[in-house]
Amino acid sequence: MPEETKPMHFIRQIIANDIANGLPPEAVHTRFPPEPNGCLHIGHAKAFCLDFGMALENGGLCNLRFDDTNPDKEETRFVDSIKEDVHWLGFDWGDREFYASNYFELLYGFAEELIMSGKAYVCTLSPEEFKEYRGVPGKPGKHSPWRDRPIEESLDLFRRMRAGEFDEGQYVLRAKIDMDSPNLHMRDPAIYRIKKAGHHRTGDKWCIYPMYDFAHCLCDAIEGITHSLCTLEFEVHRPLYDWFIDNTSVMKNLKVHPRQYEFARLNLSYTMMSKRKLQQLVAEKIVDNWDDPRMPTLSGMRRRGYTPAAIKNFCETIGLTKYNSLTDLALLEHCVRQDLNKVALRRMAVFNPLEVEIENWEDGKVDMLDAVNNPEDESAGSRKIPFGKRIFIERADFEENPPKKFFRLSPNNEVRLRYAYFMKCKEVLKDSDGRIVKLICTIDPDSRGGNSPDGRKVKGTIHWVSADHCAKAEARLYENLFTREDMGNLPEGSDFKEFLNPNSLEIKEILIEPSLLEAKSGQPLQFERNAYFMADAKLSSPERKVFNRTVTLKDSYQKA
Ligand code: ATP
Ligand code: MG
Repeated sequence: MPEETKPMHFIRQIIANDIANGLPPEAVHTRFPPEPNGCLHIGHAKAFCLDFGMALENGGLCNLRFDDTNPDKEETRFVDSIKEDVHWLGFDWGDREFYASNYFELLYGFAEELIMSGKAYVCTLSPEEFKEYRGVPGKPGKHSPWRDRPIEESLDLFRRMRAGEFDEGQYVLRAKIDMDSPNLHMRDPAIYRIKKAGHHRTGDKWCIYPMYDFAHCLCDAIEGITHSLCTLEFEVHRPLYDWFIDNTSVMKNLKVHPRQYEFARLNLSYTMMSKRKLQQLVAEKIVDNWDDPRMPTLSGMRRRGYTPAAIKNFCETIGLTKYNSLTDLALLEHCVRQDLNKVALRRMAVFNPLEVEIENWEDGKVDMLDAVNNPEDESAGSRKIPFGKRIFIERADFEENPPKKFFRLSPNNEVRLRYAYFMKCKEVLKDSDGRIVKLICTIDPDSRGGNSPDGRKVKGTIHWVSADHCAKAEARLYENLFTREDMGNLPEGSDFKEFLNPNSLEIKEILIEPSLLEAKSGQPLQFERNAYFMADAKLSSPERKVFNRTVTLKDSYQKA
């Protein structure tokens, strides 16, 4: 979207105000903080288009920071896939690829600092007791009996936690804040727990790991982040975000106190966005993998044929709000079609073939016809397609007893074969069951290229492939993975698997024009009068191409 048409939203407004109050635009510094425990989905795209977008718009910087504070589920392969996806959308973090784990030593130091200033203590309550003491909203919590443990003792225990002397769950380090706070997050939250798990970057160096709330704000401060943009569920964590920054020495030599701002996460209709559940789909082999074209992941969308431009346009179009809502999947598909219409190469493929023999065509004669690659883009050029005595058309394009307003092929009705000739049907051949097996037709040799020789008009244009030149291929037709509109909000006690769409994948054998044998994944295609497709990089072989249906054409009559 051009700069001037970008809608004003509250984050843009906040940054504009900060700039008006003296923040140099190029000092705007954001970060995108994915946890490498899964692949990115379209919701993450909303977040990072904003993070990188706000920095770019102002000439500032955006860091990529992996939030790797939970070693249980984090893996290097997810780090790599996240980087690939962010790059795919055209964003770059330069040399600022950071990890929360880069700061483990610093963070540990801040934790000791809190202990020494009497603002943190090692607590011996069991996880169950911890919860019970914390209380519930509207009812104050109870002080842990270890709250006033002497500083020296806490410090000693914390050091021994680090040294690996204790078991998981035996001790936690807690901030000493306010057990009466109406905000449960302020009731002496845990800041370090024991976890005897190898970490994908630090290996066995650590057996205690900082909690997200403690790590995130301090990492932001260390990196000089000005605007820390996150989703609404973190709103109640914001006082804690500020508390850790204000009660440690992290700001000692720094100028900008980072500020957290929250926006509503993206929920898409018929789409499940929770990473944990997506992980389950993969683990239980309900889908192929994280990049299954039915997944809401960026890798899935890439394979399916969505374009970066379409996704970015979608993320800008939905805007930002402060309340959660459900975005219509149709809007995303609209953005995809809008871009594909501009960039997709037009091709012909027949899905339900009906053979046609051209009576007045010489046996063995082949005509190489010119076909425009993209009427929306002259620079896409043209290609040659072979035409011969036998062709295939779609069964649905012929009606023996046409209803009114049926402008496609019927006995004695003339149609245009796309890029080829005017054609008339002379005879219908049937098998013993009365099923149509073949049509005998004639073409007008003076209508080459599909141009009328004498000004007479035909109403219908149909696509076709040459029987002697076409190739077989596989088309994968996708529908929504789920049948329920609001997958982020399931009925009490129900499982997401109850809402799986049994028809989310249909595999069809199709006939393709020869140029499609060269189709490359990454190149959007439109199979004329059918849908947008893209060759699948993983499933295609030199012998057999596999095409993923990206999205239907808006008014495709073949949709039904
Ligand atoms: P999930 O809830 O799917 O497990 P997450 O929020 O835990 O995702 P992170 O890797 O921590 O996953 O997310 C990185 C960033 O992306 C965070 O700032 C988070 O707020 C943001 N984000 C995650 N999901 C969405 C969403 N649906 N819409 C907008 N932003 C999102
Ligand atoms: Mg998260």
